[in-house]
Amino acid sequence: MNENNTRVWLVGAGPGDPGLLTLRAREVIENAEAVVYDRLVGAGVLALMPEDAIKIDVGKNSGTHPVPQREIENILIEYARKGLRVVRLKGGDPFVFGRGGEEAEALVKADINFEIVPGVTSGIAAPAYAGIPVTHRNLASSLHFITAHAKTGELPDINFDALAKLKHSTLLFYMGVETAGLVCEQLIKSGMSKDTPAAVIERGTTSKQREFISSLNNLPSEIAAHNIKSPAMILVGEVAGLSENLNWRSNLKLSGVKIAVTRPKKRAGKLSRMLRDLGAEVLELPCIETEILHDAKLPDFNNYNWLAFTSVTGVEALFALLAESSRDIRELGNIKIAAIGKATADALRERGLRVDYMPEVYDGVNLAQGLANIMTQDEKLLMLRAKSGSRELNEILELNNINYEELAVYETKYLKCSVPDDLDMAVFTSASTVKAFIESCGDGFKLDNIKAICIGLQTAREALFADFTKIYTAARADLNALVQAACEAR
Ligand code: SAH
Repeated sequence: MNENNTRVWLVGAGPGDPGLLTLRAREVIENAEAVVYDRLVGAGVLALMPEDAIKIDVGKNSGTHPVPQREIENILIEYARKGLRVVRLKGGDPFVFGRGGEEAEALVKADINFEIVPGVTSGIAAPAYAGIPVTHRNLASSLHFITAHAKTGELPDINFDALAKLKHSTLLFYMGVETAGLVCEQLIKSGMSKDTPAAVIERGTTSKQREFISSLNNLPSEIAAHNIKSPAMILVGEVAGLSENLNWRSNLKLSGVKIAVTRPKKRAGKLSRMLRDLGAEVLELPCIETEILHDAKLPDFNNYNWLAFTSVTGVEALFALLAESSRDIRELGNIKIAAIGKATADALRERGLRVDYMPEVYDGVNLAQGLANIMTQDEKLLMLRAKSGSRELNEILELNNINYEELAVYETKYLKCSVPDDLDMAVFTSASTVKAFIESCGDGFKLDNIKAICIGLQTAREALFADFTKIYTAARADLNALVQAACEAR
C-alpha cells in the first residue's frame, strides 16, 4: 500500500492529443493497476496504460450504451477496496462537465482517498488548435463554459438574456452539436447580433480536427452542411474571427496525420517529438521490446581483431554484461570496432569508444560487405547482436570467407498493442517492428490505408511481404530522413 493511502486518481486525459497530457497524469497512468476510461480519451493516452493493468471501458460506443454513472462509481469503489491503484480517466478536465464531482463525492462517502489531476479542457484547447485565443485584450475579457446537452430533446436552463447582454465575452458550448440551432436562435432572440463571429471545432487537437468559422446566424447550417458530429466545441464571440490570421496548424507538414511509432518505448521519444513538431498526431505503439540475455558469456576479446555492433541495444548489452560479470572495458584492448550506423556509433562514443568502421549506408548488408572489404585474411570478427537476427549478414561474410563468430546478447520480443483503424501512417525502424505490428493487427485488418514509412530496404522488404501497398523508404537510415519520408508520404 502506498504511504498516503490514495487509491483513486480522477485524471484529466486532455482533449485528445496525447502531447497535452500533464506530467502528473502520465505518471499516475503509467503506475495504474486498474484504469476506468471514457469514450473521449484519446488513443495515444490509452496507449500509456500498463500492459497488465485492468482496463474498463465505461464510455459510449455507437450501438452500445454507456455504463450508468452510479455503476461507474461502484466500479471505482470496488477496485479501490481491492487495494488496487485505480485511475479514472476522463476526456479534457475531470471537473469540467465530466461528472468528476459526483465521483469524488461517492469516494468521500465510501471513505476512499483520492487525488484530482486536472486536465486541459477541450473548451480551451480545441479553439487554440484552430488559432482562436479564448480571451483577448481587445475582444474578450470573460469566458463562459456552458453545457448545451439536451436532456430529452430540450435545452438545459440557460440564461440567454444574460449571455446576450455580455459585451466582449467568449461563450463556449460543450455538447452542443445537436442543439446548436436552438442555441444560436435563442442568443439572437435575446439580442445578440446575428453577425457575431462563431466557430465549431470537431475532434479538436486530434489529426481528424475540422474547424469552421462562421456567424451566429449561419453556424447551424454550416454544422449541418459539413455533417459535424460530436465531440465538437461551439464558440461564440469576436475571437472566432482571429482564426484566419492565427491558424498555426495549417502550415505544419504533418498536421492531420495520425501516425504510429512502433519502436521500443525507450527509443521512441525523439522520433515522436520530431513528428509532433510537424503537427502529426503521434501514437506510440511499441510493438517490440528488447531483453538482454543475461546468461550470454562474453568471450576473451583478445581472440578477435574486430568487434561489430548492429544496434544500440547491442552496445547497451555489452556494457550490462561486462558489469554483471565484474569485468571491465579495458579488456577490449586494441580490438577494432565497427558500428552499423550513426546511432550505434554515438552510443559507443558516449561510452568512450571510437568507431573504426561504419558503412555509408546504415544497414546490415553494407556493414557486412564493408567489413569483408577491409578485413584481412588472418583477422577475426566478433558480432554482438540479437538472437535470431537476419541471416543476410552471415551470408555475405561467408561468401567473402571472413573468419567470424556471433554472440546473441539480447533478444527481441513482440508486444501486443492495439492498433486503431484510423491510422494514416506507421513508422518502422526495423524489420522486426513490421512483423510485430502485423501480428498485433490480427487477421482481417485492412492495411490498405496505412502508409508504411520504413527506415531502410530490409524494413521496406518486410513491409512488402506483410502486404502493405504504400511503402516509403527513408533516403538514409536516420531519423531526419525517416521524418522526411513521412512528409513525402503525405
Ligand atoms: N471534461 C471534458 C468535457 C466533457 S463533455 C473537457 O474538459 O473537455 C463532452 C463535450 O466536450 C463534447 O460534447 C464536446 O463538446 C467537448 N469535447 C470533448 N473533446 C473535444 C474535442 N477533442 N474537440 C472538441 N470538443 C470536445
